[in-house]
Amino acid sequence: MKANIFNIQKFSLHDGPGIRTVIFFKGCPLHCQWCANPESLVLHVPKTALEYKEKSMSIEEIMEEIMKDWDFYEESGGGVTLSGGEVLMQSDFAAKLLAQCRQNRLHTAIETSGYASPKIFQKVTAYADLLLFDMKHYDEKKHLHYTGVSNQPILQNMKCAVSSHKKIIARIPVIPCVNNSLEDASAFCSLLNKIGIHEVNLLPFHQFGQNKYEKLHLDYSFKDQKALHPEDLIEYTEIFRSNGFHVKI
Ligand code: SF4
Repeated sequence: MKANIFNIQKFSLHDGPGIRTVIFFKGCPLHCQWCANPESLVLHVPKTALEYKEKSMSIEEIMEEIMKDWDFYEESGGGVTLSGGEVLMQSDFAAKLLAQCRQNRLHTAIETSGYASPKIFQKVTAYADLLLFDMKHYDEKKHLHYTGVSNQPILQNMKCAVSSHKKIIARIPVIPCVNNSLEDASAFCSLLNKIGIHEVNLLPFHQFGQNKYEKLHLDYSFKDQKALHPEDLIEYTEIFRSNGFHVKI
């Protein structure tokens, strides 16, 4: 059994507790217009951008990479995070990899858009100690417009994860002209409160992916958009705090 992996990032400090290894799975059912990992979406990487080509890897090969940093996980309370792209697209592999991590006493997390059937979602999340659950938009029509898919299956899976008492952190990419108004912040708060999620990471829009679009010869509709910085989100963050959320930027 093999999976298509486009990156393995060591010593990550932002994708769950402690020091982590993050495994990036290729493929995603969403097409967010601001995606910073367009290499996860393309089927054929041009010859001029071979650094973005995926690798086909077995569970044993990935575990070997992961276990090289065992001492760091143990020391810091860290572990492994599966990200992407969308990890749920390679669900059998992801579930087995997470199970193997648990057997090795590693903390397990997935970063996911949550866009999958409930069966697939539950199969993978059963082995995850933490869900970093992306939330792009609270409004179904805008979600469809900016990502290409409805948010309804995502919200369904989110509710299901809450009722299974999963540890969940909602991750909101704050994107100019998409979801960055103070009204947007209030609407996110009211939806998340209804669902029962009280911890949020705000991810200010950045331009780290811009070069990749050029190298991959892809159109990028956010090309001329300025990046946001934490200081741009002071009032936005305050709305979450005043609604009782634990927030990190
Ligand atoms: S869900 Fe993530 S990987 Fe998929 S298109 Fe959106 S930003 Fe890119």
